[in-house]
Amino acid sequence: MIIREVRCKRALNPCKIKGFDYTLNPYIGCLHGCVYCYARFMCFYREGREKWGEFVDVKINIPDALEEQVKHLKPGIVMISSVTDAYQAVEKKYQITRHCLEILAENNFQIALLTKSPLITRDIDILKKFGNSIHQPGVTITCLDEKDARNFEPKAPSVKSRLKALEKMSESGIPTSVFIGPFIPGISDKNLEELFKHFREAGVKTILLDKLNLKCGNWPEIKKVLDKHYPELATDYRRKWLTNEYYEGIRSKVITLCNRYEFSLNLIFRHPTQTKLKK
Ligand code: SF4
Repeated sequence: MIIREVRCKRALNPCKIKGFDYTLNPYIGCLHGCVYCYARFMCFYREGREKWGEFVDVKINIPDALEEQVKHLKPGIVMISSVTDAYQAVEKKYQITRHCLEILAENNFQIALLTKSPLITRDIDILKKFGNSIHQPGVTITCLDEKDARNFEPKAPSVKSRLKALEKMSESGIPTSVFIGPFIPGISDKNLEELFKHFREAGVKTILLDKLNLKCGNWPEIKKVLDKHYPELATDYRRKWLTNEYYEGIRSKVITLCNRYEFSLNLIFRHPTQTKLKK
């Protein structure tokens, strides 16, 4: 595990994703090391010297850079940690996500934030300052089974601790969301109704859903996990599972469950009639 302190020139960058104005990534790299992560493209800039999940660069001056930038920028919606996890373990020591949130709240910016870490609850006091201008503050949970989660998200906090974090945030009045993304065929669909019951108990308001996207070199890593732990799924996985038909079925199931448990739903992937999944 390599942790380095680096300096950045800018804190906010323009965001290409519709509905958001800026991105802010307090770290480069992520020690959670999820096998499906496509932020692993960051490794391309490191000439293969370090593997995804084994390094993190801490942008130690990012609060100062942000303080300077917000003086000149129009307030907008900031997507926090588009290619990292803002609450990975190093944040406990550095607290740079916390400082950035304070600055954004004071300067009337809005934020969108997802994490896999219960450390987010440390900052409930600041998250509340955003009031209604916080978008989908929440936690990513791709499956209920801890063993499955460890196989695909080897160094991320347990599912149980993430559910607890959601509960704590909901109790403090923050309208929370769960991101089921990526929805991993054959894994995320196990115990789906039970998963939704846990979400309801944790006071979740919104479900975000995305499919498994094969990009930025994540497929060989996913395949390794399938071969090792799920040989019954591994053969022909892409052709059998990553289909429009499969995701159309999941979409219907999730809509039914959202209606049953009174969650609102935000689909990240487009309807199959609008896009063709690559095989
Ligand atoms: S927590 Fe997010 S950024 Fe970190 S490895 Fe997992 S998917 Fe990638």
